[in-house]
Amino acid sequence: MSYQSINPYTSELAAEYGNLTDIELEEKLRKAHAAFKNWRNTPFSERAEIMRRAAALLRERREELGRINTTETGKLISVSIGENYLAAGIMDYYADHAEEYLQPHYLENPDPIIGSAVGIYQPLGIIYAVEPWNVPIYQAARPSATQLMAGNVILLKHASSCPQCALAMEQLFLEAGLPEGCFQNLFIDYAQSAHLIADSRIVGVTFTGNSAAGRIIAAQAGQYLKKSILELGGSDPMIVLPDADINKVIQGAIIGRLAISGQVCESDKRMFIHESLYTDFLNGIRNTTAFLKAGDPLDPKTTFAPLCSRAAAEEVRAQIAKAVKHGAAAEEIGPEVPANSAFVRITVLTDVTEDNPIFREEIFGPVLMVFQWHNEEEMLRLANATPYGLGASVYSEDPRAATRLASRLEAGMISLNQATMSSPAVPFGGIKESGYGRELGQEGIREFTNLKYINSTTVDMRTVLTMLQTP
Ligand code: NAP
Repeated sequence: MSYQSINPYTSELAAEYGNLTDIELEEKLRKAHAAFKNWRNTPFSERAEIMRRAAALLRERREELGRINTTETGKLISVSIGENYLAAGIMDYYADHAEEYLQPHYLENPDPIIGSAVGIYQPLGIIYAVEPWNVPIYQAARPSATQLMAGNVILLKHASSCPQCALAMEQLFLEAGLPEGCFQNLFIDYAQSAHLIADSRIVGVTFTGNSAAGRIIAAQAGQYLKKSILELGGSDPMIVLPDADINKVIQGAIIGRLAISGQVCESDKRMFIHESLYTDFLNGIRNTTAFLKAGDPLDPKTTFAPLCSRAAAEEVRAQIAKAVKHGAAAEEIGPEVPANSAFVRITVLTDVTEDNPIFREEIFGPVLMVFQWHNEEEMLRLANATPYGLGASVYSEDPRAATRLASRLEAGMISLNQATMSSPAVPFGGIKESGYGRELGQEGIREFTNLKYINSTTVDMRTVLTMLQTP
């Protein structure tokens, strides 16, 4: 297996890299281990300075990195450039907030045998991050900004289809002043990845990708009692109540479902539209997508991009065919796309019954599964009848009704009257087969820290807290 940059639009091979040898991999591991010993003791203020420089470089290089991203993933150039801003925002956010989120704290405890306590968060060591191609700059930044700010170091195995993005991020951190060994990119195969997880110097694994691969990585980590975080697939429901504003609904559906041509984990993949708005919704989607223009994603005039590869497009087309074979109706809308390419025509699937296998599958492409409902309880049951539990959205002009439904949806992240999206401050993650643990937020930065409690009945723990706060 090698790491290849193949332009999904032209099918041209832009760059290819061989895997590390086992000796080279060992050298990277040794470097990371050595780097941790210093980095863990580097003050927050110094870590933050480096992280802010990395963010500034990312913004400065937005065009160059955007082009690399689009060439490797096929997404629109404007979207690739926007991804750099999101990733830079994450870096800045944890530069600003890491120290606050990892503050020592006092725990009053009336137990006369144990006494009161002070809790501190300490970094653990090398975190191994396995990441997907769909948002390669963001996916490199998400675990790195939090974990580097927490004092851990990162070994990154990025997807084999985005090696140039992975190298660009490694270079960017180095130029920002991150000490050598704190963030290293690895071109490795699955056997080497398993070997790495087994190594005692790796203390945690964060994996983002599909649920089948997540199972394998989690089992490998579990075998060696390593903590893992899994950020997996999703089939988010979008719930539209009768009093929803149809313009917000259509805008949310287009952004939520068609961003990156439908290749987003947290995305409204199943739309439950109240019967009173069903026809308006379908017409609104048809009319809005009619203006999209399919073409070269590097051309700023293009508004509808290919998928990440021809193989991915074939897989989505096969899923559509399977849905139809089991009784669904498929309507192609939006712009015509070239045949035998990485493009998939935007498709609306209706009449999907619960026993249709597609009902429980994630479709990673521009496909809207649309359901019409009239009974709220039954709609809610169907919305939750998925193996996944990543995100969801609820549309209603009545905040009480929207909140009530949001609290009953089985998901980790729910948006009201807008598409679900990642934001630096908000913990990201799901439940069920969408994984466990969180990246981002206070919870995310603490995932790979040791929450250590020190207690005493004879020592004044408030004094201990003060000492820890002013080393
Ligand atoms: P994938 O095949 O699971 O790949 C993701 C990463 O895992 C890649 O680096 C891949 O390496 C690696 N990988 C896969 N199997 C492995 C194994 N046995 N050992 C070591 N590494 C392994 O992901 P994908 O299907 O391309 O990505 C799309 C999926 O990711 C969707 O399901 C999407 O919903 C999910 N996703 C989730 C989130 C989230 O935050 N929840 C975000 C983005 C995407 P290679 O490239 O070398 O195979």
